[in-house]
Amino acid sequence: CGIVGYIGKRDSQQILIDGLKKLEYRGYDSAGIAVFTDKGLEVRKSKGRLAALEEKLVGDELRGSVGIGHTRWATHGKPSDENSHPHTDNSFKFSVVHNGIIENYLDLKDELIAKGHHFLSETDTEVISHLVAEEYDGDIVKAVQRAVKRMRGAFALGVLTEFEPDRLVAVRYASPLVIGIGEGENFIGSDIPAILEHTRNVYILDDGEMAILTNNNVELRSIKGEVISKEIFHVDWDL
Ligand code: GLU
Repeated sequence: CGIVGYIGKRDSQQILIDGLKKLEYRGYDSAGIAVFTDKGLEVRKSKGRLAALEEKLVGDELRGSVGIGHTRWATHGKPSDENSHPHTDNSFKFSVVHNGIIENYLDLKDELIAKGHHFLSETDTEVISHLVAEEYDGDIVKAVQRAVKRMRGAFALGVLTEFEPDRLVAVRYASPLVIGIGEGENFIGSDIPAILEHTRNVYILDDGEMAILTNNNVELRSIKGEVISKEIFHVDWDL
């Protein structure tokens, strides 16, 4: 029920966990993070409270300065470690966090299974990571756009691929998502409190908009690919 993401120069694990703590009030049944480490894209996730995830990370910290995190409110598939986000594809090169519901996931799942994908969870979300992998031909932004075009329902997404570790892609359609603009670092979050500790400058995405984040830049596009510009919203309140 909550999404956070970080791209910058600092260690991301604690930033992600702290952001997820700010989103706890929304309710959730499981939590997880994915971080680019020197071993590649690594995922840790756990059913239950954030404390259960933190426990898993003790002595097994994920070191890296790019990552995404999620608290889940299960809609498709029971609360379990396997069904927790982030979800990956079969090559483990793509990682996705998702809030919302993919209504046509069964159709997409059948199609992907016929193409040789095998699924590790019961979630609707897992079709997204496989679909993005299937659509990928060297540009993660285009792959996400093509995948999103096939999806019906509601989604806020954070997407990472090991092929382009300097980019974090975020998409909003009928589920909230904001982008935090920092200095040499940028953030995504389901709401402003999740990132307010780090920046007061945000873009509030509207439906059908996506953001491509690097350390030093945030580019906004429509999910059809047009470049868009938007006013930076300055947050002048405190938590
Ligand atoms: N529908 C997805 C799932 O059940 C995402 C739920 C959420 O928004 O947390 O895993």
